[in-house]
Parts: sequence; structure tokens; C-alpha cells
Amino acid sequence: MKNKAILTFLLIIFMIPAHVTFSDEVNIYSARKEYLIKPLTDEFTKETGIKVNILSAQSKVLIKKIIDEGKSTPADILLTVDAGNLHDAKTKGISIPIRSNKLMKLVPAHLRDIDNHWFGLSIRSRVIMYNPNNISPSKISTYESLANSELKNRVCIRSSSNIYNQSLMSSIIHHNGELYAYDWASNVVRNFSHSPKGNDRSQMTSVVLGKCDVTLANTYYLGKWITSKKEIEREYAKKIKIIFPNQNDRGAHINISGALITKYSKNIDSATKLIEFLASDRAQEIYAKKNHEYPIRQDIEVSNIVKSWGYPFKMDMMSLTTLGSLNNQAGIIFDKAGWK
Ligand code: FE
Repeated sequence: MKNKAILTFLLIIFMIPAHVTFSDEVNIYSARKEYLIKPLTDEFTKETGIKVNILSAQSKVLIKKIIDEGKSTPADILLTVDAGNLHDAKTKGISIPIRSNKLMKLVPAHLRDIDNHWFGLSIRSRVIMYNPNNISPSKISTYESLANSELKNRVCIRSSSNIYNQSLMSSIIHHNGELYAYDWASNVVRNFSHSPKGNDRSQMTSVVLGKCDVTLANTYYLGKWITSKKEIEREYAKKIKIIFPNQNDRGAHINISGALITKYSKNIDSATKLIEFLASDRAQEIYAKKNHEYPIRQDIEVSNIVKSWGYPFKMDMMSLTTLGSLNNQAGIIFDKAGWK
């Protein structure tokens, strides 16, 4: 009787198709907006049968939540923007190395963590944006040029508490050294038209309205304006232009959105599969186009809007692991230079 029961049990186990596993779910803590990733996770679920749950909040909030929840966190994956944030999460000990030959092939080396704790899934560039009525692009072709004294009272850039600026500063430290970086920041501060306030789009608005002539912003914000439902934003978009800086030397500063697997994940295999899916050709095209970003490999199509700005352009190839590790120094230099 007992043998028969065991036999029945084994029969049931082996009759279940291999792709159906118990409680196959992946939980994402996402600092990216749900509309950006939901279409992709739906596709992933359709293909694999693995259910995906998304909890959205700000990066800092999510990192703290994972730390606080510890072993009992439901989070398998943290999806966030900026190598600075990903590096911070790794430093705080919430991630594990991801073992995936696929990801090693799909994600270029400079776009992933040196110990494989995080992998880039889309690229954004922080570029110079300017008012073509008020300034000649030849005067502002590099990040370094923003420190020139002829730009006095003409530059507006958001606060140094913003991670995008911290990462840009990290790249300046890496390429030019700390002393130069300090001088640069001090001189840019001297060129400020007003004290830093608001986000990238506020600075872009100031440029359009002639309150300043030049700013730094991530390209996808212009994409958002161009495709906006608000007429005023579509009008603004026509009055501002992009320069990919440093095209004759190191290339324009880039950053990523990316993913890591948490130390507490109970579903490492499925989480790895999902990240591999997000790095695949098909997902890359959809993911990058949706937010006017760049795919992690240049053989994949970008949106027509993104193409119209000039693509491909020369990107700074510095390791984003290095970028993340310079974040603290960047903060110190900003403070010393008086960049609020
Ligand atoms: Fe952003």
C-alpha cells in the first residue's frame, strides 16, 4: 500500500511538464516607472510561465527597504537607474554576483559591475542642451567648456545632490584628476545664472525661456517633450538643441539603468532568466525605445526621435564600476566648490 502511494506520487511528479514549476515568481523592486517594464515582463511571463510582480518606488527607498526587510524581503531583483545607485546597493551588501554566461556576452564589459553584481540594461547620455538663439554650439562642445569665463551668468544646472550630476563629476575626476575637477566645478558655479533648483526639465525650461543659455540634461527628457501630450512642451522642444560633448576626445558621458539580484532572493534562477531576457535583442529594442534611451548594443534599433539627434555618437567608454566607486569623492568636490 505504502509503495503504491509512493509510486503514485512519483508518477504525478514526472507527469508535470518540465516548464511548470511550483511558485515560480519573480519580485522586482523597481525604481523605473511601471509602464516602462510591464510590457516586457508580460512578454517574459508569456514565454516562460514565470510570474513577475513589480513594486515601484524611488531607488533610495527601495535599497533601504531591502536592508530593513533583510532575509524576509520578497525582492529578487532591484531595477534602478545610474551606476552610482547600483554601486551603492552593492556596497551596502544587498546584492550577489550573477552567474550568467549569457549576460557576460550580452552586456558590454564597461556597462556591468566588475564582480558581476549588476548589469546595465539601457544607456542614457547626459548631454549639453542649449538655446540656439543665444549661443553658438562651437563655444560649448565639451563638458570642460562649461567652465569658460565667457559663459558667466549663462549656465544653469541642477543641484549636486542629484546622482546624475554626481556620476558626471565622477567621470570628470576619472579623466582629468581631482584638482582639475575642483577647478572645473568652481568655475561652473561662477557661471551659474541662478542657484541650482529643480530637475533636468526645469533647467531645460530655463534655457528655452532665456533665463540661461546652456544646461546639462539626460537626452530622454527631450524625447519626453517631443512626444508630450502638452502642446507647450512640444513647443519648448523645438527651441532647445543637443550637443553630444567631447566627440573629439573621450566621448559623451553615459550612464545606465540596470539590475541586480538581491542577496536574499529565493528565486535566483528565474531572476537571472528575467535579467537575461531584458538584455536580449527583442527586449532591448522595446525597452530603449519606450523611454528614448539607447540599447546596450549598437546593432539594435533606436527610436526615430533618438536617431534624429545623431546616432551612433561617441560614448565615453570608462568602466561604470569605476564611475560608481568615485561617487563619494564627487560629493566632496561639489561641496568644496560650493555647488549646492
Ligand atoms: Fe531621469
